[in-house]
Amino acid sequence: MSSPHRIAVVPGDGIGREVTTAALRVLDAVTAAHGIALQYVSLDWSCERYKREGAMMPADGIDRLRDFDAVFLGAVGAPGVPDHISLWGLLIPVRRAFQQYVNLRPVRLFEGVRSPLRETAEGVDLVVVRENTEGEYSEIGGRIHRGFPQEAAIQEAVFTRTGVSRVVDAAFEIAKRRRNYVTSATKSNGIVHTMPFWDEVVAERAAAHGGVRWDQEHIDALCAKVVLQPGRFDVIVASNLFGDILSDLTAAVTGSIGIAPSANLNPEREFPSMFEPVHGSAPDIAGRGIANPVGAIWSAALMLDHLGHPEVGEQIVAAIAAVFAQTSLRTPDLGGKATTAEFTQALVDRL
Ligand code: ATP
Ligand code: MG
Repeated sequence: MSSPHRIAVVPGDGIGREVTTAALRVLDAVTAAHGIALQYVSLDWSCERYKREGAMMPADGIDRLRDFDAVFLGAVGAPGVPDHISLWGLLIPVRRAFQQYVNLRPVRLFEGVRSPLRETAEGVDLVVVRENTEGEYSEIGGRIHRGFPQEAAIQEAVFTRTGVSRVVDAAFEIAKRRRNYVTSATKSNGIVHTMPFWDEVVAERAAAHGGVRWDQEHIDALCAKVVLQPGRFDVIVASNLFGDILSDLTAAVTGSIGIAPSANLNPEREFPSMFEPVHGSAPDIAGRGIANPVGAIWSAALMLDHLGHPEVGEQIVAAIAAVFAQTSLRTPDLGGKATTAEFTQALVDRL
């Protein structure tokens, strides 16, 4: 057995705890079979902690994570705690401190799972690569003329040459391991400073990745195409805001937000990367044992891929596909009656 991968596990709030338990069960089953050693350290960082102690994580939280090989997160969020607390109190500091500039969100329509788009969603298998550290989500801006009729809010977007280049490079590298096709999301017809710069850097980097087909679409038209012909896309690279919107849209196209995984990657591996399902803490169904665990389990598969065990990650995804294709087990979000534990057990059996 090689030396263990050290994983910081942050179950978080609500169904985050339930789907984390499910994902660790699957990880334990599959890694035992392959002689891969994982060592978990569980951290109670959450909105519950915020309510008790006034902070999502300890003041030295980032430093405590630094020496782990990866962070596995369930979900954070709780009724009564504003979203910006969980975002700026945990998720965004981790993404930024550890230069997790690639937010990778694979999307697949599994056989046996119904898409709300009955007519167009055949064969969806794509990846959204979202820029995760800069762009539209910046703290630069403010209010002027407070309280007067001229009151205005200003929000600046920041796109750096380094920031755009590195995420575009990552998207092209991912495309080379898939179907060799990159689509860039832009809006350079309406946003006249940052988006033309984005386009310029994309074209420059594309030239350096000869052999990969690429094109660009304005975000509005792209959203329409993702609904009308989702099967035509392979890798979509997008800014922080456009990628955020696109990944919820593409996840919805494939049946349930409960299926969608994500990886916040530091491709250089200088710092830990973070893996989490796309969904939130879902307070409306928390505590009932019925959350769909697939988003978390697929995220765990992405983590194994990143830790150097891509074939094991692929086995997990294949087992998910097999359970959907060959059984009628479904959690309630997909129209079934299975519990989180029952679905997870079926996956473990398959593995
Ligand atoms: P948060 O504030 O943590 O983002 P939210 O309620 O805003 O929580 P989600 O948690 O993503 O956002 O939930 C959106 C909807 O999708 C809810 O109705 C929730 O029950 C449902 N949902 C989300 N994840 C799952 C899952 N894994 N299984 C089943 N349903 C889910
Ligand atoms: Mg939410």
